[in-house]
This record gives sequence, structure tokens and C-alpha cells, in this order.
Amino acid sequence: MYDIIIIGGGPAGLTAGLYAARSKKKTLIIEKGLEGGQIAETTNVENYPGIDCIEGAELGKKMAEQAKKFGAKIVMDEVTDVELDGEVKKIKGYIEDYEAKTVIIATGASPREIGAPGEKEYKGRGVSYCSTCDAAFYEDEDVYVVGGGDSAVQEAIFITNFAKKVYIIHRRDELRASKDLQEKAFNNDKIDFIWNSQVKEIKGDKIVNEMILENTKTGEEKSIKSDSPFGIFVFIGYIPQTDLFKDKVEITEDGYIKTDSEMRTNVPGVFAAGDIRQKTVRQVVNAAGDGAVAAMNAQKYIDEEEGNLYEGFKA
Ligand code: NAP
Repeated sequence: MYDIIIIGGGPAGLTAGLYAARSKKKTLIIEKGLEGGQIAETTNVENYPGIDCIEGAELGKKMAEQAKKFGAKIVMDEVTDVELDGEVKKIKGYIEDYEAKTVIIATGASPREIGAPGEKEYKGRGVSYCSTCDAAFYEDEDVYVVGGGDSAVQEAIFITNFAKKVYIIHRRDELRASKDLQEKAFNNDKIDFIWNSQVKEIKGDKIVNEMILENTKTGEEKSIKSDSPFGIFVFIGYIPQTDLFKDKVEITEDGYIKTDSEMRTNVPGVFAAGDIRQKTVRQVVNAAGDGAVAAMNAQKYIDEEEGNLYEGFKA
């Protein structure tokens, strides 16, 4: 049996693994895809403190190596079911079943995709889901932001710090975003709107150079083409990876796991960290922070349960 099982090998899960293993707890990280999670699909990370610029995949690899160096085991398996209620937590995988005294859920949230042809192909080569990560690559270029909610409008405003012009493409003629954000966007000279439109196709060579838009009212299609690079930033909501945990831990209406500031869920011995958690800022740096907090509290939980807790550590 493991002391701590971490489900998800993104920055939150790998940092939790590093802290858990370094405290000599028997630690397992279960990851179904790439080590690094979402960042493994990001071209460059320029906002992780102390690291000037690093490819996302490289940062994920380094985090995984560091966790392994301290003894964390990482397995590639997909969790299919969990039993979290009892003293022993049971995790069912495709390949194997696992048991632990505590579980840290770090399965993340994925940006919702448009689903247009070319979108996946040009991810990281013109198509982005993170302005903090990628807006700086579009200094004095045109940027198209897809979406009409708070994220789209807030990120569009942020991108005007870099881009020559930002066009917000929305499928209706009215924004969903809050009135104050709408006002800021309407008053920003660098922002224009393309209403009643959705992205039908994304095309390019090595990078994006064309986008086909469809008018949602008339069905009319138009092409946006340019010789200089342009960015398409997609902010049409996020999909938290919480399917497995519904009815097992407390989840918000929009599907995120509720925790307190110590990363504890409502189930004893079960913690959550990173993008899967109900919070407002979802960045690599705070995912890593969540992972550290979750692991330290998982250790504390085990030591308390086993009566080994150093008196001075009891809060
Ligand atoms: P959201 O509020 O769900 O808005 C998603 C937007 O994308 C909507 O305008 C929606 O259009 C559009 N959309 C959805 N699916 C689409 C598709 N397949 N194709 C094209 N457009 C599509 O998501 P969000 O903006 O990421 O915000 C999520 C939550 O975080 C919200 O509760 C928001 O208030 C909060 N948030 C708050 C702040 C802030 O307070 N500053 C900042 C960011 C996020 P329709 O309007 O037509 O449905």
C-alpha cells in the first residue's frame, strides 16, 4: 500500500509527488498521458519564476525527473474508478489496482476546444488557449480571440498590451461577460468585434495564416488571411476532469472540486490540487503551489492518523 497516491502528472501532481517523496512517504503518481499535463502541450513557458524560458514539455520532464529523484514512482495508467470513503483508498486503473492511505486529485482542467478542422494541428503554432503564456509572441501582430465570456474579454484586454489589434469573435451579438469588462473592451481602441461568427476552419503552412469564419445567422463564410503571423486565442470555457469524482467528493455546480486553503476536500484523507480545484487563477506556478500544500497536508494527515505527529506541527 502507498502512503500517498497522486492522480494526474501535471505541475500540481508532480510537485505534490516531489514533496511527498522527499518527506519519505511511499508515493505513486498515476498519469494517463504526458508527464507535465497541459504544459507539455505549451510551446514556451516564460512565466515560471527562476526559469527564463523553457519548452512546456521540457519543464514537465524536469518536474517528473525531480519527483523521481526523491523516490516517487510514476506509472502510466488510466484511473477508471475510485473508492475514497474508507481508511484505505482504492484506485482502479486499466492496468492495475492501487491502494493508499491518502489521495491527491490533480487531474486538471482542459480548455474547451472549438472543434474546428486545423485547431489541433495548429495548437502551439498560432492557436493558443493561454494568453499569459503566448500573447508576447504576437507583439504588433493581429490577434483573434474566440469567445464572449469573462475569460475571452479579460484576456483580449490583456493581449492589447502586445498585439496591434485584437478582434473578439463571438457566436452571438451580445457578450456574456460582466458589464464592467464589456465596458472596458468597448472603450479599448485596440479591440474590435466580429459578431455572430464562429471559426469553421483553421489553415496554414508551418504556422496559421488563414481562418474561415461562418456567420451564425446567414451561414455566409469569409476568409481571414494574412502574410504576417496572427494568433487565434480560444477562451470558450474549461472542462474540469472530474467525471471520476462525481458523488465521491464535493464538487461545484460548474464541475470543480471544492477544497479549503489546505487543499482538503470534504472527504478525510482526500486532497485536490491545481486546475481541478475551485479557484480563479489557473497558472503553472499556483498549480505547483497547490501540489506542495496538498502533499504536506497529506503527510500531516497520515502522521496524525498514525500518532506520529510532532507536537510542534499540530496547528
Ligand atoms: P463562460 O462564461 O462559460 O463563457 C464561454 C463563452 O464561450 C460564452 O460567451 C460562450 O458563448 C462561448 N462558447 C462556448 N462554447 C462555444 C463554442 N463551442 N464555440 C464558440 N463559442 C463558444 O467561460 P469563461 O469565460 O471561461 O468563464 C468561466 C467562469 O469563470 C465564469 O463563471 C466567469 O465569470 C469566471 N471568470 C471570471 C473572471 C473575472 O471575474 N474577471 C475572469 C475569467 C473567468 P455564449 O455566450 O453564446 O454561450
